[in-house]
Amino acid sequence: MSLRLFNTLSRKIEEFKPLNPPKVGIYACGPTVYDFIHLGNLRSFIFYDLLRRTLTANNFEVQFVENITDIEDKIIKRALEKDITPEELTKEYTKYFNQDTNQLNILTPNVQPKATEHIGKMIKYIEKLLEKGLAYQEKDGSVYFDISKFLNYGKLSGLQNRELKTGTRILSDEYSKDDAQDFALWKAVESDEYGWDSPWGKGRPGWHIECSVMSQEYLGDTFDIHTGGIDLIFPHHENEIAQAEGHSGQKFVNYFVHAEHLLVDGKKMSKSLNNFYTLRDIEERGFEPLAFRYLTLTAHYRDKLNFTWESLEAAQQALNNIREEIRGWELPVGPEERPKEPVAQFWQKFLEAASYDLNMPQAVAVMHQLLRLDTPTASKSATILKMDQILGLNLDQYLGKTLEISDDVQKLLTIREKARNNQDFKEADKLRVEIKKLGYEIEDNPTGPKLKKL
Ligand SMILES: [Zn+2]
Repeated sequence: MSLRLFNTLSRKIEEFKPLNPPKVGIYACGPTVYDFIHLGNLRSFIFYDLLRRTLTANNFEVQFVENITDIEDKIIKRALEKDITPEELTKEYTKYFNQDTNQLNILTPNVQPKATEHIGKMIKYIEKLLEKGLAYQEKDGSVYFDISKFLNYGKLSGLQNRELKTGTRILSDEYSKDDAQDFALWKAVESDEYGWDSPWGKGRPGWHIECSVMSQEYLGDTFDIHTGGIDLIFPHHENEIAQAEGHSGQKFVNYFVHAEHLLVDGKKMSKSLNNFYTLRDIEERGFEPLAFRYLTLTAHYRDKLNFTWESLEAAQQALNNIREEIRGWELPVGPEERPKEPVAQFWQKFLEAASYDLNMPQAVAVMHQLLRLDTPTASKSATILKMDQILGLNLDQYLGKTLEISDDVQKLLTIREKARNNQDFKEADKLRVEIKKLGYEIEDNPTGPKLKKL
């Protein structure tokens, strides 16, 4: 089977061909760890995970590198506000980030490099850019990348739509989406500020240089896939390309793959708009993190997804229904059990959808078709588990597992059965309502009542 991905470099869906098959190197821009991560960012992290799992299902061996940005202006500012060191702050929020991604069943990266552990490498990298005449030092000790010296500048984001402001510089990591300016590789700081010694005096690395250095450190000068949220295309990834290709003289990345935003009331979910929710917020309202994962599967990663509490509710319900459907199914004989016809064609269709630029809504639709296919068999169970290796919904925890029911509920159920046998349907209905209050729906089957968790 061939795998296809939309490559931002060509703005086309292309067949994916890795440099050294079956090995695939992916670098994903990780979190800036100064606060809890919001659902908008988590959508991107779930997307990275789906990409990685789909590659694995296509028999590629993935090396997945995702950095931790633990040095940045926002981190310094927040640490000062809290009167703690930046290390204390970033350690705490790295822990929370890893907890959140765990709860979303996102696989742990093979390498999770921290920016602060690569400062020496960044300094050497900047020195080489200076030697090659692609960067210059200002009087204050800051070092800038000269975008006019890098001829391919703008190839990812389309420079024609932006004004090239030659001779102007920007020290901040975040800047106008319309102007292209020389950007800081090294930011000079005062002697009492947080920073590192360098040949240019005390300072801190710019955000963009962190990712060029760490990605090439672990994946080589040229690697297969670089991914991130769509807002990283410019300036972050554009600047990463300029630094990396300027440094090595070779192509940096073959496929750039970007995930769309999560919206709230039609606006991008973001810290700056203060319209964001975290996993804690949804858990407080009684939703599971995996319901959010399921919700993200209902939209294509290149489409915007509007977050509403109603849509999360529907996702939670859909997930619960799947779980209840597969309870009591026959377990596969072995984990490697191969699907037989007619089930095998469902797996084929599922993998085709996932492999065509990660069309997860279609893949999920195929799974639902399979769930509806008459009687459960071991082959059907095995296929659901295979599909879940991509979807990551932890369905193995439900498949073939009987529902654990408390003694109270079991007692009520027995009384209700007696009432039904005595044709006392009024009493039986009353008990149905009582059982429902305890969180279970009764399905009366010819073989007896079956409970479903609500
Ligand atoms: Zn990055």
